[in-house]
Amino acid sequence: MASLVCATCRKLIPMGQSAVRCTVASCNTGRMKLRFCSVTCWEKHVPTARHRKASYVVEDDSPA
Ligand SMILES: [Zn+2]
Ligand SMILES: [Zn+2]
Repeated sequence: MASLVCATCRKLIPMGQSAVRCTVASCNTGRMKLRFCSVTCWEKHVPTARHRKASYVVEDDSPA
């Protein structure tokens, strides 16, 4: 399992910590699966990615 790194601040998102995911499709296709350690980091991502309409989901890293 690859560990997640915040796409904004490059901080490691440890397993078990909930990660914030951008819901814009282009951020979730192929290898571009962006994750953020906090909503604050996601908010910084939005203007750099030029999203017109952006929202996020908080992923709970609990076993399915
Ligand atoms: Zn971050
Ligand atoms: Zn995005």
